[in-house]
Amino acid sequence: MNKGFLKGTAGALVLLAAGGAFAEEETTAWRLFVSDHSAAVVTGVDVASGEIIDRFQTYGPARLVRSEDGTRVLAVQTNDDVVQVIDTGIEFEDHGGHADIHLDAPGLADFTVAGQYPVHTVEHSGKWAVFFDKEGLARVFDNHLEGAETPSFVNVVADAPHHGVAVAFGERSLVSVPNPENADALPIGIEVLDRSGDRIGDVAECPDLHGEATSGDLLVFACGDGILVVRAGRSGPEFQHIEYGAAGADERVTTVLGGRGLQYFLGNFGARKVVLFDPFEAAPYRVVDLPTRRVDFAVDPIRAQFAYVFTEDGTLRQLNVLSGRLVDDLKLTGPYSMDGNWSDPRPRIAVAGDLIAVTDPLEGKVHLVDAATFEKASEIGLEGMPYTIVAVGGTGMSEDHDHEHEHEDD
Ligand code: ZN
Repeated sequence: MNKGFLKGTAGALVLLAAGGAFAEEETTAWRLFVSDHSAAVVTGVDVASGEIIDRFQTYGPARLVRSEDGTRVLAVQTNDDVVQVIDTGIEFEDHGGHADIHLDAPGLADFTVAGQYPVHTVEHSGKWAVFFDKEGLARVFDNHLEGAETPSFVNVVADAPHHGVAVAFGERSLVSVPNPENADALPIGIEVLDRSGDRIGDVAECPDLHGEATSGDLLVFACGDGILVVRAGRSGPEFQHIEYGAAGADERVTTVLGGRGLQYFLGNFGARKVVLFDPFEAAPYRVVDLPTRRVDFAVDPIRAQFAYVFTEDGTLRQLNVLSGRLVDDLKLTGPYSMDGNWSDPRPRIAVAGDLIAVTDPLEGKVHLVDAATFEKASEIGLEGMPYTIVAVGGTGMSEDHDHEHEHEDD
């Protein structure tokens, strides 16, 4: 047997195919996509080598959101009235017992999602809903489009322009209800629309709605007075509103993330706290105090019991979401005060396999932290001010191209 068969990891799987032999081996690939705070560019980075794969010119500075399956990253450019779509070049094909990984060059998709003032961008079961505040509607499209295919957008129309949100929810759509007295105020609830855009049932109340997330089979919206939980019921979405109660006398959630691997939610809760939310617990809200004000937070999709909070003293903190305790910390950057504008350049977090990536915009770097030891592993220098960041990747079986080539030469 050719030595090429044995190259790579010890667990390499060897397959024989009719007409020629090829080998498959385990391949791990992670890519970071990093937007610049002020420049119209998104940089793709290979995590293993630390090398820049490509830089993508956008219309304006972008905020990045990744798809659940990691095949796409949306570059939301609010002030430039457009959302661009980046194909990440990493795709997994599920084969039951294992998944194949397909690696390609990342690239901008041929289509854009244009409209006035896109902000909240939500993916739910493979469908994106991009809400355009100044139009008061969301454009919905499928995440699984071919690169060259132009999506046929389905519009989900709210009652009026407002700072809103929509979610494609199976056969139904959910859309925020603007405040009837003041469209500049936050929405007052959620309503359910059928496929033709007709309202079904009553408005689910959610005063001062801001923030949404999915975890497992639950969807939540953060309201001024509690969290609105949405489940898929037999005859459409079912709502349950859970008040903050004693936990939230003065605070509320405005940004919420959904746990991966474990079903829970993590939200901001005033400047110096985060809150863990589990609707199935007798005490659904657990407040975690932070030593200084919070800059960003992220859940760990791989080590599901952990989440991370970056605080303004330049420290990354590890939160055990089961115990609700901060269990480790690592000073990474200079101070990033939360005084000043909310949109000033400050660090953002993404988890890339066994590494936690933290942008350091004022130093032009991405810090990489070993998730197992919680020590700094390395850093990647980037031009400008690296700001929002997402990671895509994983491990799968890939064809051993070297060997295949040798075989063809036989
Ligand atoms: Zn918002």
